[in-house]
Order: sequence, then structure tokens, then C-alpha cells
Amino acid sequence: MLASEEALTSQSYYAASVRRPPAAPSLAGAERADVCVVGGGYAGLSAAIELARRGHSVIVLEGERVGWGASGRNGGQALVGHASDDAIEQQLGAADAKRAWNVTVEGLDLIRARIAEFGIDCDFVPGYLSLAVGERKARALRQWFETAQRDYAYPHWRWIDHADVGNWIASSRFHAGLHDSHSGHLHPLKYCLGLAQAARACGVRIFEHSRVTAIERGAAARVKTVAGEVRCDFVLLAGNVYLGDLVPKLESRIMPVGTYIVGTAPLPEAQAASLIRDRAAVCDTNFVLDYFRLSRDNRMLYGGRVSYSTVTPPNLAQSMKARMRRVFPQIDPDIAIEYQWGGFVDITMNRAPDFGRVEPNIYYLQGFSGHGVVLAGMAGKLVADAIAGQASRFDLYARLSHHPFPGGRLLRTPALVLGMLYYRLRDLL
Ligand SMILES: Cc1cc2nc3c(=O)[nH]c(=O)nc-3n(C[C@H](O)[C@H](O)[C@H](O)COP(=O)(O)OP(=O)(O)OC[C@H]3O[C@@H](n4cnc5c(N)ncnc54)[C@H](O)[C@@H]3O)c2cc1C
Repeated sequence: MLASEEALTSQSYYAASVRRPPAAPSLAGAERADVCVVGGGYAGLSAAIELARRGHSVIVLEGERVGWGASGRNGGQALVGHASDDAIEQQLGAADAKRAWNVTVEGLDLIRARIAEFGIDCDFVPGYLSLAVGERKARALRQWFETAQRDYAYPHWRWIDHADVGNWIASSRFHAGLHDSHSGHLHPLKYCLGLAQAARACGVRIFEHSRVTAIERGAAARVKTVAGEVRCDFVLLAGNVYLGDLVPKLESRIMPVGTYIVGTAPLPEAQAASLIRDRAAVCDTNFVLDYFRLSRDNRMLYGGRVSYSTVTPPNLAQSMKARMRRVFPQIDPDIAIEYQWGGFVDITMNRAPDFGRVEPNIYYLQGFSGHGVVLAGMAGKLVADAIAGQASRFDLYARLSHHPFPGGRLLRTPALVLGMLYYRLRDLL
């Protein structure tokens, strides 16, 4: 558990608005499975579903509860693309970057298909607005859009020019934007718990409060907790930032960066309906971005700010309310902030995802860099394909090269802060 983690999870709107089933048993004694998945977030559960459907026996070991990590706390924005499609194109070239882009388009279809097939009630709303603050940012967004339109031929975009912005959002903060009708948003914890239920229905055995403390490598790997072990042919490490130093090489390639969300009291119905057309999800295009959306019960869920030290920023509720009112001054200044929470995104140096194998039979998925609601689900599917002998799409990602953060464990934070300061300054220009 990272610093101040308990405070980050306990006051979440998501946790307060689901009914969890009783805890699954924790692992005790020796078990056997074809595949052992470490981590009960989107990546691990998605892989488990796909593997079970291909006839494998699967055990998921979750150190806390299912959805306890980023998958149960995130902004809920289910978006096409990657955190940095540019980094992917630079390394893989245009044709393979397009294949990777299409993986995320398929990821949105996968979310819709799973919601329909397994009856997951997770408040999915289609529609996403990417909005630029100021003229310079609007020009950059337009340029990005034209290139991406040419390279990816994604048919769901609609450009919003300055004169039209007011038809999409009741705010004067933004200069122009892009609407994507295929992306959208959902209640992340409901979706994650729905995936767990779907996995169980497919025959997956899930153990909670079963933290993996060691892995003995070999053709028959042994995945160990304090009270038991799983012998298996394949392992999937899907523990993300919480894996800690279980595999030190992986830990050095991602940096946990805190990001935070507040939830207001429900807004008056008419006001909620007036703020964002069709209740789309919204992000601004700043490097340290603000992201927000309305919940089903008309709360504004407003996310942003970052922490590189894993310590929650002070005065979170007030500062986030001020950010929200910079966009929507019409929201009552005395509106209560009823929830505040956060979590850690797994940033890689180049913001490209980091998928691969630490041994031929030990796979890992990490480095979603704050863009994993769609991609983590697909990543799980690609691992299942790879284990079934169809590794071409998994290997597309595994070809991406990554470097450890400079300075190692102790000094990587100051190095990252310096880098981020540079981008923050650019946001302000
Ligand atoms: C506040 C916040 C907002 C975000 N907003 C968005 C957004 O709007 N859109 C978007 O696309 N992405 C967003 N993200 C990122 C997205 O949530 C993640 O990319 C995604 O959920 C990662 O899924 P995962 O399965 O890899 O990891 P996680 O969901 O973190 O799951 C990992 C699980 O593994 C378990 N685990 C770790 N180590 C062990 C071990 N040794 N033994 C057993 N279990 C272990 C953990 O307990 C945890 O439950 C956000 C993230 C945060 C934190």
C-alpha cells in the first residue's frame, strides 16, 4: 500500500454507491490452475474471462478486494487511443501505430459487448469532449485531429469550432474542441465488480485478501501468498503500481503519480442537464489535465491535480472546487463536496504502455499512463490470445522499448517533478 492510501480509497463516491458481495475467500493451502492472474483490476479480470472462455482453468489472486486499485477509483472516462499515440508511432511506425489504435477502438466495443452480455449495470454514457483552453491549445488540438483523422480514419469525431463550443458545454473557458461519439464514461467500480461476476460465471476462481509475496519461476511456476500457493503453467502480473518490488525490473519502469477526484452533492436536475450536452465526459487538453463528468445522480465528479510524492495534496476539496468553478461558475459556491478520493496512475517515461514477458510463461501488463479504462481490458484479451498461440497483437506492444526512470527508486521523483514542471509551464503559456 502506498502512502496515504487508506484516505484515498475510503471517501470515494464509487465505494459509497455500490453494493459489494461478501469478500471472497483468501488463498489457503496449495491450488493448481493453468493460469494464475495476480491482480483483480480490469487487466487481470479481463484476461481471466478470456482465458476461461478458451478452456483454461484460472485463479485470480487479489491482495485487497476486487477493484481496490485504479480500476475502482478512476475518472470513468472510457476513451479511444493511448496516453501517447505519438510515442507509439515514433517507435513502431505509422502502420503499426494504426494497428495499436484499432486495438483501443475494439476495446470500446469490448466494453459495450460485456455490458450487454453479462448485464453489467455500470451507468455507461456515450460521448466524450476534448476541449482546448485558449487559442494556442485549440490550434494544437486541430492539428492533432487532422493528422489523427488522416492516420487512423476514425469515423466518430466531430470538430467543434469556437462559435459552436457553447452548444456543447455551458462554459466560457474553452476555445474549441473535439467530440467523439464512440468513447464515453461509466461507473468504474460497478464495471469492475461486473467483470468479476462475469469471470466467476465463466468458471474463474477469485481469492481476495491474498497478496502475492513471491513467485518461483519455472515451467511449473509457483505463485505464493503468506498462506498458500498456486502452481500453474502461466502467470499474468496485472498488479500495476501495487506490485511493488515483486519484480524490481518492472517497478523501475513505472512511476506512481497521484491524481484526485471530488464528488459534489447532487446538482439541481435542470442545472445538471444544462451543463454538458448529452452528459458527455470532458477532458481539457492540458498536460496536467482536468477531467470531469456527471454521475447518474447528477453529481459533478471533477478530477485533476497531481502528486508525485504519493502524499495527498492539502486542501483538496477547496482547490478542486475552485477548479470546477473556473469551468462552471454557475455552480453554487457553497455546494458541498461530499466525496474526495484519488489513486495512482502508472506512468512510463514515454507514456506508452509497457506489456511483455519476464519469462516465456510470465506475462505482465502495466504503464497505461492514466489511459487504461479501455486499454487494460483489451490488454487482458491480448494476453489470453498470446497464451492461446496468437501473440501478434500482444507482441506489437511488447516491441515498445522502455527505460527505467532516471535516479532509481529514490531520485526518480525529483526527476519527474522537474519534467512535469516544464509541461505545467507550457500549459500556462
Ligand atoms: C484517480 C484515477 C483516475 C483515472 N482516470 C482514468 C480515466 O478517466 N480514464 C482512463 O482511461 N484511465 C484512468 N485512470 C487509469 C486507469 O484506472 C488504470 O489504467 C486501470 O484501471 C489499470 O487497471 P489495472 O488492472 O492494470 O490496475 P489496478 O486497477 O490498479 O489493479 C491492480 C490490482 O492488483 C492488486 N495487486 C497488486 N499487487 C498485488 C499482489 N502482489 N498480489 C495480489 N494483488 C495485487 C491491487 O490490489 C489492485 O487491485 C485513472 C487512474 C486513477 C488512479
